Amino acid sequence: MIKEIINGWFRMLFNPYEKSKERKAICGKCESRGVVSCKECGCVIVAKINCSICECPLGKW
Ligand code: SF4
Repeated sequence: MIKEIINGWFRMLFNPYEKSKERKAICGKCESRGVVSCKECGCVIVAKINCSICECPLGKW
């Protein structure tokens, strides 16, 4: 869990993950998208989409 959080936030700030835009579009249309976080896993979406070792809890990406 800590590894994923560090990965996501570090990439978001310094080295955006190549799939983040594609993931952002999917999250943007998802019914589980909260104001800032995913309602399924509780993760902050801007960081989660940049995490190269994370998966969508619903298997959407
Ligand atoms: S991570 Fe998955 S479940 Fe969460 S908002 Fe994005 S697409 Fe939806």
